[in-house]
Amino acid sequence: MKAGLNAKTVKEIKVNIDKCTGCRACEMACSAYHAQPRYSSVNPARSRIRVVANELNDEYVPIRAGDYTPAECNGRHVYTINGKDYSECSFCGASCPSRNYFVEPDSGLPLKCDMCESVPPLAEPMCVAVCESGALTYVERAEPRKEKEQDKRGQMEVGLESLVNQFGMKAVFEGLTRMSKS
Ligand code: SF4
Ligand code: SF4
Repeated sequence: MKAGLNAKTVKEIKVNIDKCTGCRACEMACSAYHAQPRYSSVNPARSRIRVVANELNDEYVPIRAGDYTPAECNGRHVYTINGKDYSECSFCGASCPSRNYFVEPDSGLPLKCDMCESVPPLAEPMCVAVCESGALTYVERAEPRKEKEQDKRGQMEVGLESLVNQFGMKAVFEGLTRMSKS
């Protein structure tokens, strides 16, 4: 779905934990897609999605890497869903000191899901594409931009328009390309 000028596209991955089998195909696909060079290795420890598993209770929760946080939070709730107990950490995508998820094993740097943004874009993120059980579903929706975002966009477009009028589209494009490489 393409959002209009005053709307932005929000990309989401819906998770149905009842359908997750714990197969970990999503972890393998994500790590392969982000390997350098692409698809050159498979290592779930480098994946930006991890399956929090408790095999004894048949609990599998796929979570995607979110922001890095230097401190543990105080979230210690236990959620009971369909008769199963899940710790609050099972649903948290933070790279935090209380567990070793979402830390790149060689560099120690935090990992973060980038929704497999690439040029050209994928039809759907890799983890969704390989999830045969349907536990992961890709959704795009349009959301209105906040006023501030609209203001910024308006200012940027006015500025670009004036540059194009003065120097021509080709020169502006070449200048932007040079700046992006410097
Ligand atoms: S690929 Fe799907 S079913 Fe398999 S672990 Fe990942 S989310 Fe669960
Ligand atoms: S959307 Fe892409 S980067 Fe994010 S967890 Fe899925 S495969 Fe990894």
